[in-house]
Amino acid sequence: MSDTMIVPEFIQQAIERFERDPATVQVDGGAEALPDHARETRAAAREFAVNVIGPLAREIDASNEIPDTVWQALGEQGFFGLAIPREYGGRGSILETCVAVEEISRVAAGVGLLVSVGLLGPAGLMLAGTKAQKDEWLPRLAAGAFSSFCLTEPGAGTDAASLETSVEHTGDAYRVTGRKHYITGAGRSIVYTVFARSGEGPYEMTAMLVPASASGFSVNGRHPFSGIRGVPVGELDFDGVELPDEARLGDEGRGFQLALSILDRARPGIAAQALGLAQGALDASFSYLDNRVQFGAPLLDKEVVRHRLARHAASIAAGRQLVYHAATLADADSPSLNATASMAKLFCTDLAMSVVTDAMQFWGGAGYMSGSPVERMYRDAKIMQIYEGTNEIQELVISRALVREFREAGGA
Ligand SMILES: Cc1cc2nc3c(=O)[nH]c(=O)nc-3n(C[C@H](O)[C@H](O)[C@H](O)COP(=O)(O)OP(=O)(O)OC[C@H]3O[C@@H](n4cnc5c(N)ncnc54)[C@H](O)[C@@H]3O)c2cc1C
Repeated sequence: MSDTMIVPEFIQQAIERFERDPATVQVDGGAEALPDHARETRAAAREFAVNVIGPLAREIDASNEIPDTVWQALGEQGFFGLAIPREYGGRGSILETCVAVEEISRVAAGVGLLVSVGLLGPAGLMLAGTKAQKDEWLPRLAAGAFSSFCLTEPGAGTDAASLETSVEHTGDAYRVTGRKHYITGAGRSIVYTVFARSGEGPYEMTAMLVPASASGFSVNGRHPFSGIRGVPVGELDFDGVELPDEARLGDEGRGFQLALSILDRARPGIAAQALGLAQGALDASFSYLDNRVQFGAPLLDKEVVRHRLARHAASIAAGRQLVYHAATLADADSPSLNATASMAKLFCTDLAMSVVTDAMQFWGGAGYMSGSPVERMYRDAKIMQIYEGTNEIQELVISRALVREFREAGGA
């Protein structure tokens, strides 16, 4: 038997048909929930996604590289600066960030992640930066440079409080020593917000701004992941990196609280990424089912199939409202953000997994073929239940808020 790989012609046509016209199927696109400025961003992001990113999605996945031209275009079009305050050149809107992440993730979830990290990376600067720190970094980030959030270590994932990277104050300088892994933007970012142990207590951490040019700082390499391919996620080493007092972000010993506040603000971004992927998987289902004829008619004409699609569309519409709501709370700095952001992340990432699993089932063997859009989306979706706090941790956050509320109201 020959080793030649065969993609049957009808499958190749189905893949190309969807790539050529990834028309979106939304009875309720949630437009009424959006203010005018966010609708403008949605229109711009949709056009960019369909015309610039969509045609490259398969190649980015196959090559495991996001071309420089894509990074450049994202920066030039302002997608990395959507959350950065207007006085520093951004749009000052987490809602707009989420809308853009949703639209771009509909066609390529890895590229959508970059826009979401445009919120995660600079969030510490926005929350705790001094005027000098903001003046130094935010205009460059709004103009298209990238930054990273560095909490996770080989020995400290979900249990982030057990991290071992240390920061010591010696004389008139800080010295950071340790290793971070799974860091999105590794090797691309101009500045890294690093959380390091600064005392004996379990939560005693200090956040430091480490410029990419700092002596003693190095990027060891990228991790090979099965999904969101092309996104640089890698390991960082801090070998006694010396930093001036001005590199400390926020108060000494308050780094852990800062990390949690950053994650609250950033989680709607991951929820938006998952929402966009769920919508993309629904779109791909329609595209295939309407063209695949079995038993003498398109599969889209089968009632059982239509009813499943209807359920997914209803859940996506609900998820969209939850994401927009969480993003609006984040923009308003609301005290209810914590549990709502976790609800959005939990609901939408589980939804993405469910919609894409059915999309692959609808595509049948064609969906399981390497290079099919639903196979790529399937691999991309899984990580969303894991990063920025696993979904078990979202359940923990939500349940704590529920129990607190119940007991404060007097309990049973
Ligand atoms: C592609 C990618 C990008 C990432 N980007 C970043 C980044 O930019 N910056 C950054 O700091 N981190 C980043 N991370 C790290 C990410 O946030 C962690 O992977 C995540 O928090 C989980 O940590 P872990 O992988 O070590 O899993 P573990 O902590 O080892 O957990 C393994 C499993 O055990 C479960 N578990 C753990 N503790 C409990 C508990 N108490 N109760 C119930 N279940 C529990 C978890 O939910 C999970 O299912 C990234 C990770 C990936 C894979």
